[in-house]
Amino acid sequence: PKRDRNIRSVMRTRLPGSIIALLEQAGLLAKELGYKVYAVGGFVRDILLARPNLDIDLVVEGDGIRFAHALSQARQGRVKEHQKFKTAVVVFPDGQRIDVATARLEYYEYPTALPTVELSSIKMDLYRRDFSINALALNLSPGHFGQLMDFFGSQRDIKEKTIRVLHSLSFVEDPTRILRAVRFEQRFNFRIDGQTLRLIKNAVQLNLFSRLSGARIAHELQLILDEENVLECLSRLQDLKLLAAIHPQLHLDADRTRVLMELRKVHDWYRLLYLEPPVNTWKLYMLGLTMGAERDSLELVCRRLRFSDRELREFLALRDLLGESLARLMTWAETQSSMSDIYFALDPLPVEGVLFLMARSRREIMRKNISQYLTRLRTQELLIDGSDLKIMGLKNGPNFARVLRKVRAAAIDGAAVTRDKQVELAKSLIRGLEPGGSGTAEPQTAKKPR
Ligand code: ATP
Repeated sequence: PKRDRNIRSVMRTRLPGSIIALLEQAGLLAKELGYKVYAVGGFVRDILLARPNLDIDLVVEGDGIRFAHALSQARQGRVKEHQKFKTAVVVFPDGQRIDVATARLEYYEYPTALPTVELSSIKMDLYRRDFSINALALNLSPGHFGQLMDFFGSQRDIKEKTIRVLHSLSFVEDPTRILRAVRFEQRFNFRIDGQTLRLIKNAVQLNLFSRLSGARIAHELQLILDEENVLECLSRLQDLKLLAAIHPQLHLDADRTRVLMELRKVHDWYRLLYLEPPVNTWKLYMLGLTMGAERDSLELVCRRLRFSDRELREFLALRDLLGESLARLMTWAETQSSMSDIYFALDPLPVEGVLFLMARSRREIMRKNISQYLTRLRTQELLIDGSDLKIMGLKNGPNFARVLRKVRAAAIDGAAVTRDKQVELAKSLIRGLEPGGSGTAEPQTAKKPR
């Protein structure tokens, strides 16, 4: 492939006209300011791969923030700037966002009387990137619009489906790139190049991960868990001993692998039905990845991944809740009692917990019941509510919930499907309550003497 191939016509077939117009205007505005502007990174890669991607990253040779304001003004956008990094985000009225970065012009002064040289700063910018496939720049300047700047064999690697670092210290500089390598490899069905693979193995042996902050690992891991090919990614990470490098507790045994595979199916099913609320993918897969871990080691994993105190507390609490729900489901499985038991077993759980139990279960009948819970029972409204109970003379107190719970059980189990039936049941439940002013259904357990 030519180093300076022009892909204007490819862009026209793969991008909406409005985006082309936006990019052309960006080039024009940059020129007016005396700058050059390039689209870079995943956006350019994905044009060549014919994958839809409208996450536009621009790099400006010049003052990126000033350019961002000019572009924003021309199209009634808003700018969020980060002076410290000389970056900005422009958000347009139609919701389209553009990230703008500044390629620092680097001047090299020679000690003698020789003139200062200005290195092409876009090349420097690209050289700092993770892989050759992400190191293409697309010139947007008028007269050069659509011209690819390929300094590092990016087009060849895209063509040959290869993930390759730009230099041998890349993973030392930033070990999170190792996780990115696996993510891109599995997403595009590429192969990590031999030399790059050696560098990864080397990095694992040198234990470079131990130097990384948990927050950065967690961020890259989250991106992996959001991938279509999450399982392929995880098993590749496992094969490269990367999961263990993050934390020894994070290995995939047969059980975890099975559950993760099922989690994937169950998660797809849930999304396909547009069920609410949306699932926190991270939480969901972390349940699978840490399944069976002792509480203490689970805590260590979470701490390694820089869970906040609150996240940690929530995750541990979820694990305890899961234990309780699981015990109730097991009881149900033995007695095959009523559907309302399933409802009350699952009701305390967030949706991630319910999906996890669904994936974990080996019994068809149990999965079916849990899916019923998610699609139907969970959202089924009672036909009476607290105001009805008040009219029946029930006073505020714990009995409200108790009566409603019994009515709900009857509604789920088919004993009180109509409003009339529910009213009738509630009345009889209230009648059965101990008379005693506060309207308590069951006698309060006497306080233990101190
Ligand atoms: P995705 O399709 O997953 O969004 P992307 O390539 O757009 O992939 P981002 O994480 O949005 O990835 O990053 C944008 C660009 O920034 C990448 O294309 C890459 O060139 C660069 N980049 C991101 N993370 C790193 C890193 N850790 N080291 C070097 N370059 C990076």
